[in-house]
Amino acid sequence: TRREGFSSIPNVKWEDVGGLVSLRREFEHYIVERIKYPDEYEEFGVDLETGFLLYGPPGCGKTLIAKAVANEAGANFIHIKGPELLNKYVGESERAVRTIFSRARTCSPCILFFDKVDALTKKRGEDVGWVVERLVNQLLIELDGADQRKGVYIIGATNRPEEINQALLRPGRFGKRLYVPLPNQDERGLILNALAKKKPLDVDVDLVAIGQSNACANFSGADLSALMNEAAMTAREERIAKIKAATAPAVEGTSGSSSQSFIDGMR
Ligand code: ATP
Repeated sequence: TRREGFSSIPNVKWEDVGGLVSLRREFEHYIVERIKYPDEYEEFGVDLETGFLLYGPPGCGKTLIAKAVANEAGANFIHIKGPELLNKYVGESERAVRTIFSRARTCSPCILFFDKVDALTKKRGEDVGWVVERLVNQLLIELDGADQRKGVYIIGATNRPEEINQALLRPGRFGKRLYVPLPNQDERGLILNALAKKKPLDVDVDLVAIGQSNACANFSGADLSALMNEAAMTAREERIAKIKAATAPAVEGTSGSSSQSFIDGMR
């Protein structure tokens, strides 16, 4: 089991992330190069945002890209889930927040990743409202102490940006917001390519065409990953040495679309 606030350098590389090209460029700029060449930024007096919010539909690479950023920067990565913080630390949420930030400082450079930031919002009529309020207040104190958190970058993630506590969105907090969309048809091919790197793939499999096919319409990265795994499983069961185009079975996309027609088309 994972200890709260445990840090390590993730093994996700840029090449494991398909698409998301402009997002990657932003992060190169805002985080990776700042960690790698701090003197240059200092010399030019560049003072950029250190807090980010990734928002968009589930399974499209928010966690993945945050890990890749840490890996590329050679930084530690701490993964915190919003709801965990709430449930687990009722009554001592503030202390938990302080501990997490102090851990992040001691292992800087560090990416502090807050999943499901929307959970840190007081909902009307909720018993635990006061817990949330105190937790958010402590979070604001830590976020605002930017001088003390040198080398600590904050990345939040959410599927429901509209539910986030507005105070958290100000500059210096989760100040820079970046949209992580559902991949388009060409990006689906790029994601399949990234996912296929560690799989034995037959030369006749055209991942670009699969990505462009309507059968994968509205597929998220997570859906494409499931498709790739199903195909690998089938290949193994049928004792085929490599994943062939026809081994990919039907996988339901989150939107209810299915890859079946594509698969049939390949047979
Ligand atoms: P959630 O909002 O549900 O937390 P998320 O946006 O953080 O989702 P990830 O956890 O990053 O999504 O993605 C889930 C899995 O889907 C990844 O581990 C990876 O296998 C695959 N995946 C998603 N997006 C991509 C992508 N752009 N490139 C390669 N793989 C991807």
